[in-house]
Amino acid sequence: MLDLPEPDLAVWERAAQTVIDNWSGPAEIALKLVYTRGIDGDPEAKPFGFALGVEIDEKVLRARVEGVAAITLERGIEPDLAERAPWLLLGAKSISYGVNMAALREAGRRGASDVIFTAADGAVFEGPTSTVVLAKDKTLYTPPATIGILPGTTQAALFRGAERAGWSVKVEPLQVSDLTGGEGLFLASSVRKLTRVHTLDGVALSDSSAIHAELAAAYESEYAIS
Ligand SMILES: *Cc1c(COP(=O)(O)O)cnc(C)c1O
Repeated sequence: MLDLPEPDLAVWERAAQTVIDNWSGPAEIALKLVYTRGIDGDPEAKPFGFALGVEIDEKVLRARVEGVAAITLERGIEPDLAERAPWLLLGAKSISYGVNMAALREAGRRGASDVIFTAADGAVFEGPTSTVVLAKDKTLYTPPATIGILPGTTQAALFRGAERAGWSVKVEPLQVSDLTGGEGLFLASSVRKLTRVHTLDGVALSDSSAIHAELAAAYESEYAIS
């Protein structure tokens, strides 16, 4: 999306391994890979990348166990905008996350800790740093990336694992009204993993702990080291 040159996978793997080999923190590490066109203002700027290891935030660890209260907030865009205007970089994981972080602070002001972005017509996009997944009748649903959301690697792995465990999976548009009609609503991303939404817009959802445990296991099975 940024017209950067194709990164060198072997070099990325070496950078990641170097961070892991030098890690002295807790058993779990969040590994961030950043790729940039270069230093702003440097006439000789060349694309480069780096790997960064960080500890998992206490809030994230707690949310994995307890789930989160989320609110819906308007994203101010329409689902067909991404295809009409690719220069808006909708769906890129850039470091320009000012709006996304402001949305999370708004959630805090409203007594929640996470957000599900929506369109004016009620279409569901994604969380500020996560993919929305709905479980209903042994089927998992998530909206398509073509509406301008990031195609999450966690959602993709979850869907693969869940399919092997006998679930059906569907990538199709969702409406806000769909979100309360299932047996489980989740936010998925690589550091948070699969987090339950227990309350949406102030309304408690039905207890999804059992489905969460089943889906979390299906997700982990995709990464099992044999
Ligand atoms: C990181 C992120 C996701 C989830 O992506 P993963 O590859 O699963 O970590 C989804 N949406 C947004 C906006 C994100 O920043």
